[in-house]
Formats: sequence, C-alpha cells, structure tokens
Amino acid sequence: MSPDRSPIQRRACVPVRVGHLTIGGGAPVVIQSMTNTDTVDVEATVRQTLALARAGSEMVRITVNNEEAARAVPRIREALDAQGCAVPLVGDFHFNGHRLLNDHPACAEALGKYRINPGNVGRGEKKDAQYASMIETACRYDRPVRIGVNWGSLDQELLARMMDENNRAAAPKEPQQLMYEAMVESAVSSADRAVELGLAKDHIILSCKMSGVQDLIAVYRMLGARCDYALHLGLTEAGMGSKGIVASTAALAVLLQEGIGDTIRVSLTPAPGEARTREVEVAQEILQSMGLRSFTPMVTACPGCGRTTSDTFQHLAQDIQAYLRERMPEWRGTYPGVEQMQVAVMGCVVNGPGESKHANIGISLPGNGERPAAPVFVDGEKVATLKGDGIAEQFKRMVDDYIERHYRAR
Ligand code: SF4
Repeated sequence: MSPDRSPIQRRACVPVRVGHLTIGGGAPVVIQSMTNTDTVDVEATVRQTLALARAGSEMVRITVNNEEAARAVPRIREALDAQGCAVPLVGDFHFNGHRLLNDHPACAEALGKYRINPGNVGRGEKKDAQYASMIETACRYDRPVRIGVNWGSLDQELLARMMDENNRAAAPKEPQQLMYEAMVESAVSSADRAVELGLAKDHIILSCKMSGVQDLIAVYRMLGARCDYALHLGLTEAGMGSKGIVASTAALAVLLQEGIGDTIRVSLTPAPGEARTREVEVAQEILQSMGLRSFTPMVTACPGCGRTTSDTFQHLAQDIQAYLRERMPEWRGTYPGVEQMQVAVMGCVVNGPGESKHANIGISLPGNGERPAAPVFVDGEKVATLKGDGIAEQFKRMVDDYIERHYRAR
C-alpha cells in the first residue's frame, strides 16, 4: 500500500443482528434492496426477491401496506425458505404499521426487521401510542428496527416546534440548517424513545434519507457524530439511469470514505423493462471500486480511441464482464477469493501491455495498423499471443484455467 493511502476508519457503532447478518460494529457494509412488486402478488414478489438475493442483495425490503400484504408476508417467507433462500425480509410500514403488526403475528414473525418512519406513524395524540405499539412488537419478536426518516415525510409537528424555537432565538439558524437538525433530531429522539420502551440499542438502525447529494452528506455527518447507532445509508429518489447512479455514487462514496454507513441501498428508478437487480450491481460496484468489499472479478478496460476503430475490443470487454458476473454465483463456493481477481482488456499497445501486466490476467488487442495479434499476460508475464476469429473464446478459456489453478478450494 502506498504511504498516502490510509485504510478507511469505520465509525464506531453498536452492531445489530438481522437474521444471519451483522450490521455495523466493523462488519462489512451490507447491501440491501427493495422490491417493486405488489406484495399481495406472492409469486411475483418471491421471484423478484430471489433475483435480488441472487444478484447479491443481502436483505430485501418489501412494502407491507394493507391487510392482504400482511397476510402475504409469511407465504413469501415460506416460499423463499423452500427455495433455500435465507435472505432476511424487511417490512416497510407507514401509517398503519402498528395495526398490521399487531393483527398479523405471522407477518411480524416472518419479517427479519421492521422499517418505521417516525413521520408516518400517526398524528397528534395517537402518534406516541402507535409508535410505542410498533416498538413493543419488535421487543416481543426480538426483531431489530430501522427508524427511517425521509425528508419527504419529515415529522411536521417536530419541524414546526423547532421552527418556533428558532424564530425566538437570538441568532436564528438558516432554514436549511434547521431542516438538517430536524431530520437528525427525529431519528435520534425516536431511537432514544425506543430504548426507553425497552428495545435494546443493538436492535436499532437509523437513516435520514434526502434526495440532494450535499444535503445527504451534511445530514449523515451530523447524524454520525451525534449517536452510536448503526446507520443505513442511501440517497432517496436518486432517479433513473446514469443520473441516479452518479448521484448515489457521489453521495455514498464521500460518506463511506469517512467511515459513515453500515448498510447501503441504491434507490434507482428502473427504466421500463430494466431489471430491478441493477441497483444491487451498482451498490456492489460502489463498494468494490472503493476497496471496501469484493464481489466479482473487476475488469479494467481502456475507453478506446482512434486506435480502436473496430468494435471487437468493446465486444470483448463487454463479453468478459458479463461472463464473469454470470459465472460468479457458481464460482463463489468453488473458488474462494476469485472475486478479488483483476482482469484487463485493453485496446492497443500504448497502454495495453502495461495495464495487462498489472492485472492477474490481461489481454491487449491490436489497434489500427498493429499486427493482428493479441498478447495475453498472466501475473505480469506474457504467456500467449492469440490470433484469428476466436480470440474472445480463447481468452475466456484462459481466464477459466487461471481461476482453476489459483482459486480452487483445497
Ligand atoms: S490503450 Fe490504446 S486503444 Fe486504449 S485508449 Fe489507450 S491508446 Fe486508445
């Protein structure tokens, strides 16, 4: 490691167990996702949960918004168990969670964690009782909760009270600063109330989601400094396509680099027809790019330029990337450590051989006007030169051979 690259110091917090997982307390950052199926449609929800879990989601959140959804939850759990999928299900409750959890014990039992939004548990006098009822259910079933504040549904009574106090203050704060403080106050005071009601600190995770990158960074810095609860991190309503990916990455990377965040979700809006699993891939890529976790061998590819006017190089890079991701679920058990392998696919001799030598296995394709041959490097040494139409297939076989020789479990 170079002297100027120091390891990330994770923020100290109380670890929380969710099923077989540990969140916080120095455990690897956990990836989670959320289904967008109607929970009442058990078959569709099971199918999507399985897809998310296979893609690498370690917890999956489902909406529990009415009686039918609450009745569907235990059936979803059973179907997942029957298929050998132990991914913990997180129930997302708003407005009527106290009633649903109380009236449907099988639902409360089947869920691994409850998400409670303090801004959506009720108004006026009912609020405290309904919140207490949800916490009591969590205590009864020994389940952790995420107290998830969202700026779109911030507790309006709390905000109004804080604004009144601010107006009377000698030096009033800016409205934006007050909003940040209200978000943090809502999360921390709700968590402290849960502890008073009997829920242990190691059963509480907090989040304060916002949709602006700078807002999220500011709020999580405050939240992280104010408490030692484990934190769920995510940019809410990140958006579609590259905008959603870039905004999520920008926000999460800054905070993760500061050691803030124990579980993450990337909230992407899928394009019509796009797989829901994209959000899981992006979350994995964020953690792997930052060196926090490894999931799939990484492909280093150059961007291409005027030296690569045919699309052979682009196809090969895409093919190899897809091949590695596709095979990974099978390789995970057979080849421990393979997820740390580095593969390089480069477009010409300018940087190709150099970059290939730094990878475990790398190929440098011929650029325009270069000899039609592709040298392959293994652990820094040139071992072969591939030629002809079947370069992609030959290279994949060499990748397979490398994995078999270096990663097979002994
Ligand atoms: S390695 Fe070659 S093809 Fe790739 S970007 Fe650099 S000069 Fe262009």
